[in-house]
Amino acid sequence: MTKSVPQPAIVSLFCENYARCRIGPGQHVVVLSEGEQLRDYAVASVAAAQALGAEAVDLNIPGDDALDANARMANIGNNNLSKYPAAIEQCKRADIVIDHMLLLFSPEQIAMQAAGTRVLMVVEPVEILARLQPQDGLHQRVEAAEFRLQRARRLRFTNDAGTDVTYELGGKHIMTEYGFTDQPGRWDHWPGGFLATMAREREVNGRVVMDRGDILFPQKKTLREPIEFVIEHGVVRAILGGTEAAALREFMEAYCDPRAYAVSHIGWGLNERCVWNSDLPGIGMDGRAYYGNVLFSLGPDTEFGGTNDTACHLDLPMQNCSLWLDDELILARGEVLPADMRPHQH
Ligand code: FE
Repeated sequence: MTKSVPQPAIVSLFCENYARCRIGPGQHVVVLSEGEQLRDYAVASVAAAQALGAEAVDLNIPGDDALDANARMANIGNNNLSKYPAAIEQCKRADIVIDHMLLLFSPEQIAMQAAGTRVLMVVEPVEILARLQPQDGLHQRVEAAEFRLQRARRLRFTNDAGTDVTYELGGKHIMTEYGFTDQPGRWDHWPGGFLATMAREREVNGRVVMDRGDILFPQKKTLREPIEFVIEHGVVRAILGGTEAAALREFMEAYCDPRAYAVSHIGWGLNERCVWNSDLPGIGMDGRAYYGNVLFSLGPDTEFGGTNDTACHLDLPMQNCSLWLDDELILARGEVLPADMRPHQH
């Protein structure tokens, strides 16, 4: 699909975003790609950065075995960049890295951020990038949510399928994604539109019952029947349900890693341009950032400063949930209540 889009259209699409990232004169931009994966994006990113007056380098590491974005999402944390220490150093010296190889949750990306390099991941199909260009106050609305989450001591969410789970909060990093980045060391992903944090160690208890219609990522599967997760002290102790629950248990068992069962990040989506459709091309940011969802997740916590780097990473967006921060109702059956998180009426 990407190849049918004229390159100038991609360049102007990228320019619009990269200007928000404050790419311009005096900025040193490294455009990172692997093998032939998204080569057209890499070429367009260099052209866009140069058009904005920045110095841009096309850093393409060898990758005969480069995985596409979906395969990478099912095996995150491992990437070929670790074989090229000089390339990593080049990224650490840049003001911003445009990541077309999907470094998500890798030590290499975290090292770049620690060096003050901001990182923008861009791997989704052009039509999704165009539809979900960050705009209309998404940035401010995500930060309004962050402001509340920073102050909260407890997050609880429920749904009509039987979910009732509590996360005790405090001291953990809050990750915001609104689709561009203009601050040193800050990572973002275009497209985005949600926020997430972690509970304190072992302090998640209750049960999560995904309802029919909710989505499994990276499987990109819409559930036809509920799946129940029994959670004690931050760990999933049982996964109950029918054949779809059995398939999920098998998927997780294949990693042979008990750390796959750790409860990971929790948060909600605020991007009203996202659609609820697990069959879209790409890695599924529409489901993850969908306006008014709850994004429940299992697996790694390295992006939040933890040490669990399990390769099994499940993102599990759920609709029609109610979510409280302490005593304040934030989502009422999927409806976003606080005015500063809602898009302006047109
Ligand atoms: Fe996740």
